[in-house]
Amino acid sequence: MAVAATGELRVVNPATLELVGTVATTDPAAVQEVVTEAKLAQEAWGETPLDDRRALLVRVAETVLERADEIADTVIAETGKPRVEAFTTELFPALDALVWLAKQAPKLLAPERIGYPQLHLKHKRASLFYEPIGVVGVIAPWNFPFAIPFTQTAYALAAGNAVVLKPSELTPLSGALVAEIFATAGAPVRVAQGDGAVGEALVKARGLGKVLFTGSAEVGRLVAANAGQRLVPVTLELGGKDPMIVLDDADLARAVDGALWGSFMNCGQVCSGVERIYVQGALYEPFVEELSRKARELELGPLISKEQRDRVAGLVEDAVERGARALVGARSPERAGWFYDPTVLVDVPHDARIEHDETFGPVVTVSRVADDAQAIRAANDTAFGLGASVWTRNPDRAQRAAHRLRAGTVWHNDHAYSYASSQAAWGGRGESGFGRTHSKHGLYDLTSPKFADHDSGRVPVPWWFPYDAQAAAAFRGALGALYADGLPARARAAWRERRALFALAKRYRP
Ligand code: NAD
Repeated sequence: MAVAATGELRVVNPATLELVGTVATTDPAAVQEVVTEAKLAQEAWGETPLDDRRALLVRVAETVLERADEIADTVIAETGKPRVEAFTTELFPALDALVWLAKQAPKLLAPERIGYPQLHLKHKRASLFYEPIGVVGVIAPWNFPFAIPFTQTAYALAAGNAVVLKPSELTPLSGALVAEIFATAGAPVRVAQGDGAVGEALVKARGLGKVLFTGSAEVGRLVAANAGQRLVPVTLELGGKDPMIVLDDADLARAVDGALWGSFMNCGQVCSGVERIYVQGALYEPFVEELSRKARELELGPLISKEQRDRVAGLVEDAVERGARALVGARSPERAGWFYDPTVLVDVPHDARIEHDETFGPVVTVSRVADDAQAIRAANDTAFGLGASVWTRNPDRAQRAAHRLRAGTVWHNDHAYSYASSQAAWGGRGESGFGRTHSKHGLYDLTSPKFADHDSGRVPVPWWFPYDAQAAAAFRGALGALYADGLPARARAAWRERRALFALAKRYRP
């Protein structure tokens, strides 16, 4: 984590509270210049052949592999997260995105020939070009300070854009590393360091083509409103309140281990972390017992800051005051750093804040449900809609539930892992945001598709002026002749208006 001093961010390790380093901030008034500079650099980059862009992604992947330990060290110093997670949740998604993009982007972004099935347009030819948007502003959170800005930057660059990255003020070193790795490889990436004022200046900068925002729903609303003033498109990757549904035929041991990881990985500071668990019928007691026993033995990293820990503790206290029971945790251990024990809450009343607000900490609530329908109703009872998972041995049951869950992603017998598989579209509904990152959808969202056609100019155009009653009758007939369902219906429509159609055809015979 980092705290702002005049002109610099002081980065403090949240596990030890020791100073890790300092980073100079960008004056909000200077952000416009950074965007203007990026716009200039984009002009050349946007013209770069797809193969050259691919080669850059491959080079960057080599660098990331070579520097994997240094990247992990930086992330750990800023966030205190366990080393395994630095690899699994920061480096895996980053490398997977590079390798996927290197293979898929040249195919997905190649000009597409578009045919004309319409009889009256058959002589035309067209192509769809996936052009870059220009400068993409990437505004990042602190919870995955390397993976999130890195993958988004890789996608934006693959599509031919330049990037201005605004890392979280709590994790500026990881953000600086992302920018440095791409810039050293020759990609047009600039960084603007600082707090929300710098982010706001970026969203408002002239020449910005698109904003990729990842963060809270609260700030997401401000970003969308500011971007809306200039009609700049935005992708919003916001918070979540992911449910996990454990049906009565689930593998209990796997569900418990999955719940532990889904709820407590990254100390629960995960947008698609498991925050609510619904267990069916008689499985509830053994599930709760096993989950609590194993949670008690877990050792987690710290939360990012004192503010985050206080917020999480406040949500737990509110729930307990209203009658919830903490089977384990609900306390901060006696040690330096912003630690909070893994916490399992049961009997949580519906009016408790933790039922509705994103917790973003190592706390999970468990409730009993009677059947699949009640589980799905409870799971969907949230303003968020990022991820959800269903745990059952029956794939049909899982699929039925997946269709009825209101979420951007639904996993079966697993949770959240697909952020590290680039072919899987990532994004949410409702207060979890809109637009997608990852996959062909994430890539196309960073392009401006241009439809460009070709006409020899020799075929006359019957729908141009002059207009008269005969033309109107001919086009009335042409409607049915071209678009009625089935050949007989089309022929009948043409026959009805045959005179007008022949007259029009004669008038425009080439
Ligand atoms: P945040 O909203 O506080 O900040 C996110 C970023 O926005 C930071 O870089 C911040 O400096 C910047 N910012 C603040 N005010 C701004 C403004 N007015 N204009 C422009 N930028 C501004 O979020 P956070 O605390 O850094 O991250 C945690 C949140 O992010 C959680 O809600 C979490 O669920 C969400 N998140 C979502 C995803 C996803 O993929 N959907 C992934 C990770 C985190």
